[in-house]
Amino acid sequence: MTLTIGIDIGGTKIAGGVIDSSGEILQRERIESPSDSRDQIVQAVVDLCHNLMSDHEVSAVGISSAGLINKVRNQILFSPNLDMTGSKIGEEVSTRIQLPVMLENDANCAAWGEFKFGAGVGYSNIVMLTVGTGLGSGVVIDNKLLIGGFGMAAESGHMVIKPEGQLCGCGQRGCLEQYASGQALTRNARSFVASGSPGAATLLKACNGDPTALTGPMVTAAAADGDPASISILAEAGKWLGYGMAAIAAILDPEIFVVGGGGGDAGDLILQPARDAFEQRLTARDHRPIAQIIAAKLGNDAGMIGVADLARL
Ligand SMILES: [Zn+2]
Repeated sequence: MTLTIGIDIGGTKIAGGVIDSSGEILQRERIESPSDSRDQIVQAVVDLCHNLMSDHEVSAVGISSAGLINKVRNQILFSPNLDMTGSKIGEEVSTRIQLPVMLENDANCAAWGEFKFGAGVGYSNIVMLTVGTGLGSGVVIDNKLLIGGFGMAAESGHMVIKPEGQLCGCGQRGCLEQYASGQALTRNARSFVASGSPGAATLLKACNGDPTALTGPMVTAAAADGDPASISILAEAGKWLGYGMAAIAAILDPEIFVVGGGGGDAGDLILQPARDAFEQRLTARDHRPIAQIIAAKLGNDAGMIGVADLARL
């Protein structure tokens, strides 16, 4: 059975695994991301590969990374978090480990992983939205990963949903990411707590009185415990997610939307408001099948499993 390595470069950790053609992880390793320099990140990936290759014979390596990846999948054209903009990490790692290496955007890898081995099994057309700090997305149409003309398709988080809205890290205003992501949750939760409303007591306690310390997972935990303010903040994010899905459906017509990241973990606290908003905004909604909106299944492993499979193709 052909084995490949999947590497997932995250903001704080680099995870790697040896993965078989059924998506099983046979061995996994994880190290802290060295954030000092791009050479150290390349070295860390090479070291991870060598460790994984010592016990298994592998045929190729896939690297999943945030950012914009070029069409031939060997260079990071823009890296929003780590100092990797312009890095030809795919080529550099390939030269040093003497194996074919391909590079792909992390949200695309997660979408492929869920399509092949997770929540998207049995469907040919899926859109995955990864609701974390930001909002990543990946698209599979007719059983193929949508790459686009320049390698940059499926940046749904930067679809403008509210013209002249909130300023986004990408430089534009009103991107979906600013309304349906962890950033949106924390912004809304912090401003609600700062308003001094008595309804913010639970959130104020969760952050020990310091609204700047509030995080998306804190809001989700408070909502799961029944805090009405947190439930409403999550519902607001879910509503915008649903509006975004309706716009996506107008172009891509997927059979399902898979929601991953913290948004998937929040379950129906986000997914039900998303379903309601999606149906409300869907074009010709009374005359068409309605796509399902479901939580992802592979958790944090989706990117690693997905890119290992893409490297096999
Ligand atoms: Zn943006």
